[in-house]
Amino acid sequence: MAIDLSLPPEVQALADRTGRFIRDHVLPLEDAHDGDIAAAGGDRFREQLQQAARDAGVFAPHAPVEYGGHGLGMCDRAPVFEEAGYSLFGPTALNIAAPDEGNVHMLAHIANPEQKLQYLAPLAHGEVRSAFAMTEPAPGAGSDPSALATRAVRAEGGWRINGTKYFITGADGAGFFIIMARTSGEPGQRGGATMFLAPADTPGIRVGRHLDTLDRSMVGGHCEVFFEDLLVPESAVLGEVDRGFEYAQVRLGPARMTHVMRWLGAARRGHDVAVAHVARRQGFGARLGDLGMVQKMIADNEIDIAATRALLTRTCWELDRGEPAANATSIAKTFAAEAIFRIVDRSMQMCGGLGVSGDLPLARLSREVRPFRIYDGPSEVHRWAIAKRVVGAAKRALRDSE
Ligand SMILES: Cc1cc2nc3c(=O)[nH]c(=O)nc-3n(C[C@H](O)[C@H](O)[C@H](O)COP(=O)(O)OP(=O)(O)OC[C@H]3O[C@@H](n4cnc5c(N)ncnc54)[C@H](O)[C@@H]3O)c2cc1C
Repeated sequence: MAIDLSLPPEVQALADRTGRFIRDHVLPLEDAHDGDIAAAGGDRFREQLQQAARDAGVFAPHAPVEYGGHGLGMCDRAPVFEEAGYSLFGPTALNIAAPDEGNVHMLAHIANPEQKLQYLAPLAHGEVRSAFAMTEPAPGAGSDPSALATRAVRAEGGWRINGTKYFITGADGAGFFIIMARTSGEPGQRGGATMFLAPADTPGIRVGRHLDTLDRSMVGGHCEVFFEDLLVPESAVLGEVDRGFEYAQVRLGPARMTHVMRWLGAARRGHDVAVAHVARRQGFGARLGDLGMVQKMIADNEIDIAATRALLTRTCWELDRGEPAANATSIAKTFAAEAIFRIVDRSMQMCGGLGVSGDLPLARLSREVRPFRIYDGPSEVHRWAIAKRVVGAAKRALRDSE
């Protein structure tokens, strides 16, 4: 098997341009606002950042070319998204922040031509934001999607949707929602979910409070959303009725990997800050960076960065071949979410008191990367899925040999 890890020249050029744009334009703004995008101006600030990204020729690397993007596949996205993630505001600037980036991917694959015109085109161009509404308060859908309780029932000319969601990223100010609702079966049963598209100003959609989570870098917060007798036409169905869980996988596999790409950039920034600090700071007759235990932290960071990149490359390769890559995404997501947190945590440790202060970006990076071990599937759920596949295969082999 021939392995070629070199990047096409135009992708390398885009990654380099993105890196320069982030360092020159975006990082100073992140530092000025302590990584808090609402404090920086929310949507107005997003629009300014995105115009600057367009001017720099780095906007929408993921979006299909016919929607104004660079049309990059998963392997080619990795270096560009990592450069964007070097600043907490970088993904928003390039229009590749969650959930919009994952929604562009899913709409490009599943939406019909009319839906692409109404929803995908303005989203890819950065004219609107979107939200993906799946998670529900107990006893509804969380790690276990089969608990889905929001219901859509047939009504005159379409569907009537009732249910409560929470943790919905970007809901406040979103232009439209992708809603996961049960169209058949009962909570606890697999299958029976459908995705619906609805403009945010449709009567029956109400955005509630923002959940006060650790992170501050995503526009529109993480909100409660109530669907109260929301009436949508038949044309609001995304794809086919009862295939919602299947479509969620189209979105989730790649979305997990693009999260890894972006957060790897953030972790690399943390590491760079720490290395610069220990190369300068003196103690015990040496530079901190000359001390063995500090060097161990530096080496462990390098190992975690390299291993995360390697898993990412392998998984993106599978995804670009059109494979579901379910096991590979579980392995890469779990390892990366934990490795990225370790990298940032060691970086804080190396910087001493400054590491947990507002004088360096490390404390804010730490609060941003921690939730990644929970969303897109908690580590425990992925480990469970990985182990189930292995044990299942072993049982089948045993049966076959008997
Ligand atoms: C910052 C943030 C943004 C989010 N954005 C969105 C969004 O835009 N749209 C959306 O729909 N949702 C979103 N979510 C919700 C996210 O997808 C859920 O939090 C996640 O799926 C876990 O569900 P839960 O919170 O209900 O936890 P639960 O399902 O209650 O699980 C709690 C814990 O139990 C353990 N656990 C669960 N199952 C197992 C298992 N099988 N084996 C072992 N241990 C297990 C895990 O440790 C898990 O963390 C977001 C969450 C956060 C924190």
